Amino acid sequence: MPAASARKPVIAGNWKMFKTVAETAKFFQVFRPLVEDLTHAEIVIAPSFLSLPAAVEGATGSQIQIAAQNLHWESEGAFTGEVSAPMMKAAGARAVIIGHSERRQFFHETDETVNLRVKAALKSGLTPIVCIGETLDQREAEQTKAVLLQQFDGGLASLTEKDFSRIIVAYEPVWAIGTGRTATPEIAAETHICIRDKAQQRFGKKLAGQLRILYGGSVKPANIQGLMEKPDIDGALVGGASLEAASMAAIVRYQA
Ligand code: PEP
Repeated sequence: MPAASARKPVIAGNWKMFKTVAETAKFFQVFRPLVEDLTHAEIVIAPSFLSLPAAVEGATGSQIQIAAQNLHWESEGAFTGEVSAPMMKAAGARAVIIGHSERRQFFHETDETVNLRVKAALKSGLTPIVCIGETLDQREAEQTKAVLLQQFDGGLASLTEKDFSRIIVAYEPVWAIGTGRTATPEIAAETHICIRDKAQQRFGKKLAGQLRILYGGSVKPANIQGLMEKPDIDGALVGGASLEAASMAAIVRYQA
């Protein structure tokens, strides 16, 4: 397995249903100068669909990549309210978050629809950031490993090795999202190792060693350092703390 340093860290912000177009433009004016000189990590911001063009414009000429938060798996059609991968790609998105626990909980997404979305993203040349994670009940019932392996297998069903080499996985324990209750670096690292072992069984040692696994769940400037010190944690998916330019910049600027 390559050394952890062979995997370039990714710090991604998920803005959920926050920020108008004007607020998006403002964020980039403030955020860009704070991260301009950094090369140790890839920086990704995922605004709402409506703010994608403003975010792309705000990030043009910088190393910041823009992602969408969801997609429909068809390219076009009679699907009121949906947005397709070719549409977001044409708008300048480079990546897309798929299977976020809020999508699974509130919008009934399943491993099967996650899989359709992953394949559609890959077909359009977008990097899928595939979220998996257990609820508190599942962790307390010692079902964490089984749940994650099921989500991994279902969401990534029938992917080729080439497909797999293009995805990013985000481990997001549902009990840590938006709750202020972060997994300890030890809990997160242990779970990342379990996911990487699973990846190794499915796709072999080399590809598993190259897979970037991000941690998500109440990541803040105060806890990013401890998480990033763990060799199997390759970055973070940040919700609330990504909304403010200074706090997102402080997270991106963890001591590499
Ligand atoms: C998220 O939305 O993916 C997330 C991890 O949120 P928060 O950082 O607010 O817990």
